[in-house]
Amino acid sequence: MPEQAGQDVAGAADDAGGRKEHIAFLGLGHMGGPMAVNLAKAGYTVAGYDVVPAALEAARAHGVPTVGSAADAVAGADVVLTMFPSGRHVLDAYQGRDGQPGLLAAAAPDTMFLDCSTINVDEARDAAQLAREAGHRAVDAPVSGGVVGAEAGTLTFMVGALPEDFETVRPILDVMGKRVVHCGDHGAGQAAKVCNNLILGASMIAVSEAFVLGEKLGLTHQALFDVASAASGQCWALTTNCPVPGPVPTSPANRDYQPGFAGALMAKDLKLALNAIQSTGVAARIGPLASEIYDAFAAEGGAGRDFSGIITDIRDKSGK
Ligand code: NAD
Repeated sequence: MPEQAGQDVAGAADDAGGRKEHIAFLGLGHMGGPMAVNLAKAGYTVAGYDVVPAALEAARAHGVPTVGSAADAVAGADVVLTMFPSGRHVLDAYQGRDGQPGLLAAAAPDTMFLDCSTINVDEARDAAQLAREAGHRAVDAPVSGGVVGAEAGTLTFMVGALPEDFETVRPILDVMGKRVVHCGDHGAGQAAKVCNNLILGASMIAVSEAFVLGEKLGLTHQALFDVASAASGQCWALTTNCPVPGPVPTSPANRDYQPGFAGALMAKDLKLALNAIQSTGVAARIGPLASEIYDAFAAEGGAGRDFSGIITDIRDKSGK
């Protein structure tokens, strides 16, 4: 059973810099769960909440104090941290739906709304504007590093914030990550995330096509790797997440493409990049194509596989 308001919330922690913030942590899923654990371990007063009881239970079992509703979590919070699946979830939660008051209305004035979800740039800007109009502060801080990084506290945070708000959230992000980059004003964190993942998705497709072409031309994987990894074809998709087994023993290709970074998440992030391309009018051709390719990959069984598994699709469609 979810706990009631005020129950099981850890006592306030003080450090040399003074009282640590009280954090309402909403969205205790694959990423949010372990992130909340790290904040609680670091001595922050955390009130965790998720609409799914199993997520709430799991977080509580790992030491995250939980409460029975979003309103209970937000009561008395200095920071409202959200880690939701999409921008629609964030905007609905901020504004409320079906006649229910939202988080912005429930929070005390000048609360920090810190959204770590990966959402559209325009949605992040809308969320920040709504928060500011309601008398609050807002930061977008999407992450990279996956569940492994969330558990280890080694995420990278890409932050869109006013300079003074960045300073406020930085110590909190430092607990959950090893790298925190201030990318600019509201929405800049999401902008950096979609631009990076556009490079990643497109480069993984290019590396995979090159390996399949090499196979057709009689090149060994190792020979192509030895050349390209030390030449101008060098990139993360090749040297860290190599889509063929062998050259990089730690890459998902060596464990039948278990993620890693799942195809469904790449498809999602490329859709966000596509939305940004369309809303800005950039004459991009590779980005939309990469989005289409990963949509098909996810729909045809790749959703739960590492995104480097795209190479098997390319190989399968290349004939004998
Ligand atoms: P998830 O689906 O596991 O977790 C999201 C959680 O939010 C769920 O437990 C859901 O019940 C909860 N939720 C939704 N609406 C809510 C509400 N109104 N109040 C309280 N809880 C609510 O997703 P995840 O894998 O943890 O990813 C979270 C975000 O992080 C996504 O935006 C994703 O794109 C991004 N991300 C994920 C990864 C990854 O490897 N999983 C990596 C980088 C970024």
